[in-house]
Amino acid sequence: MKTIGYAALSATTPLAPFTVERRELRPNDVAMEVLYCGVCHSDLHTARNDWGWSTYPSVPGHEIVGRVTAVGSEVKRYKVGDSVAVGCMVDSCQRCDQCQKGDEQLCRQGNTQTYNGKDRITGEPTFGGYSKHLVAREEFVLRVPEGLDPARTGPLLCAGITTYSPLRHWKVGPGTRVGVLGLGGLGHMAVKLAVGLGADVTVLSRTPDKQADALALGAHRLLVSSDKDAMKKAKGSFDVIIDTVPVKHDVTPYMPLLDIDGTLVIVGQLGPLAETSSMPLVSGRRRITGSLIGGIAETQELLDFCAARNILPDCEMIRMDQINEAFERMEKSDVRYRFVIDMASLSQANAD
Ligand SMILES: [Zn+2]
Ligand SMILES: [Zn+2]
Repeated sequence: MKTIGYAALSATTPLAPFTVERRELRPNDVAMEVLYCGVCHSDLHTARNDWGWSTYPSVPGHEIVGRVTAVGSEVKRYKVGDSVAVGCMVDSCQRCDQCQKGDEQLCRQGNTQTYNGKDRITGEPTFGGYSKHLVAREEFVLRVPEGLDPARTGPLLCAGITTYSPLRHWKVGPGTRVGVLGLGGLGHMAVKLAVGLGADVTVLSRTPDKQADALALGAHRLLVSSDKDAMKKAKGSFDVIIDTVPVKHDVTPYMPLLDIDGTLVIVGQLGPLAETSSMPLVSGRRRITGSLIGGIAETQELLDFCAARNILPDCEMIRMDQINEAFERMEKSDVRYRFVIDMASLSQANAD
């Protein structure tokens, strides 16, 4: 089936209307009309080939919320009309130890990314949610619980699970002392989710001007990292720091903030770290680790958790034809805190 979407045809061309071919339904496939799609930094990095592995045409989008329009003959969990979502992956081997325990993102054979991936059966490129329709296998389709606003659910599928998974893995709960580094799309979700889990949450920022925003999101305080006295006083006062900074940076000043056995989790940056000393790691048995999205069951758990506690991202709704402007604004961190595309704005007129 042919549908309309927006694609980058090369690393240097802006996104523009594009005809997307969706496969005929396999027995375990779910077809959906995309209603909303969040805009992630990875979309921009992929469209512009910042990581060097993009293929073109590139149809980004992996914070997808839609409504089921058809199901394959063997689909059991979903029916036409259901409110559903698709995140960063659409397939995995389903057999390895990681898939078996629900960590499909860590599949030994590699998971299949929602866009810029390769279909495991045909080898054809995968196209993401900047598109009117999408087809995905049932196992990778999530249910949007009643009570969760579909217009604001999208960012939970990437920004949400990327921060929720490490909070759960490192057992954040009532009383855990959590620091959040960086207050963008990921950081603002980390704050809301850590607060929702009952943690004591501090936003770390170089400048004091984030104070009001941090408190408005539910954080208990802001720690200004350029304030030497405040940093000295905060030594050893965190169990977990979620580091959402998207660019190369130095984690050295933050390591002494961790208590003994404390953990700094990198979720924002892919690539070389600035040189750092092993001193705080060795002397305090502290660790630096990373985390990649989360498994399907855990993502469903997140959606249910957010519905139960009414936790939602702060979103700015845009039209599909505003995507290039949105990319530019994202690069300047000029968004609070996530753009979401209202896919009703993408009509056949765009494709003509
Ligand atoms: Zn993403
Ligand atoms: Zn696997």
